[in-house]
Amino acid sequence: ALTIGIVGLPNAGKSTLFNALTKNDVLAANYPFATIEPNVGVVGVPDDRLPRLAELFGSARILPATVEFVDIAGIVRGASEGEGLGNKFLAHIRESAAICQVTRVFRDEDVTHVDGEVNPANDISTIQTELILADLQTVEKAIPRLEKEAKGKKELAPVVAAAKEALAALEAGTPIIATDIDRALIRELSLLTAKPFIYVFNCDADELADEDLKNRMREIVAPSEAIFLDAKFEAELVELDDDEEAREMLREMGVDEPGLEVLARVGFDTLGLQTYLTAGPKETRAWTIPQGATAPEAAGVIHTDFQRGFIKAEIVSFDDLVGAGSLLKAREAGKVRMEGKDYVMQDGDVVEFRFNV
Ligand code: GDP
Repeated sequence: ALTIGIVGLPNAGKSTLFNALTKNDVLAANYPFATIEPNVGVVGVPDDRLPRLAELFGSARILPATVEFVDIAGIVRGASEGEGLGNKFLAHIRESAAICQVTRVFRDEDVTHVDGEVNPANDISTIQTELILADLQTVEKAIPRLEKEAKGKKELAPVVAAAKEALAALEAGTPIIATDIDRALIRELSLLTAKPFIYVFNCDADELADEDLKNRMREIVAPSEAIFLDAKFEAELVELDDDEEAREMLREMGVDEPGLEVLARVGFDTLGLQTYLTAGPKETRAWTIPQGATAPEAAGVIHTDFQRGFIKAEIVSFDDLVGAGSLLKAREAGKVRMEGKDYVMQDGDVVEFRFNV
């Protein structure tokens, strides 16, 4: 599965956030037979459409899409020098499809900061520098090898050129994702700064209410996403059994939605994923597909046999279905379409597949 690696300096609040992420109940429902590694947190992607569909179909349960977060040990200055933990740390990040950096904004005399002061901009650049240094090593090592290979294979010339462009960008302190280098050409190098970033700013209540501060942070990380939450508070919220009580506590803080939900949704989008929906008496479910997937590919997510034997997909958009009031009425109104194997799935498609076995 595509995972998001959580990184950050020591005491930024990574463990607190990760613990909050792991204390939810999607795990048992979505992964009944799987063993999940202890450093993986599985979070449901909030989707208001699911309870409405479940109501329409009288579904016994709801299965949301999920995102997986991996807790990677704290990064420290010098990680790129490859000493013991540093090396292992970078290997873990390499396996993640996106990186979520937790940055400390909260001030607390009792929680020390490695640099002696809380300075989010500095922390972000510390981590960025380590990742750039690690990528520089990777690219410097790869270029002579690629050049040698390209002597025998003319088609590798663009790869060498892209690697050299990457080298120049990294030397100038630019992460690869911020360049227009064709990343597909240098995919095999798994460069860390080529991965999409999400920034979580770990705030206390005062900072959550400080729009100027939040805008400054947004500016620092743009065009990456910035999420503001109070990790300690989020960890307390997930301990509450009463969802309404939790929401009331959030409202008192002037927050519309739990930070974890925002993080799940932004994470899901950042990974380039989308969902389609199925509904019946047994369950209403959101299935995860890559953006741009075709109908047979979407069927394959349910079962490989569905993809192999795909005939057609009966599809109604969520809005049309809810507007009509039932599947039968939607069908009568001509809102239910038959789509073939070239159909590209759209967000909010409610689907039933027809297939041969
Ligand atoms: P990590 O080293 O990045 O994993 O950081 P931890 O999650 O262990 O947090 C370090 C310390 O900061 C712990 O004592 C947490 O209770 C505290 N902490 C974490 N998040 C917050 C927060 O949002 N506000 C405050 N005041 N303290 C926090």
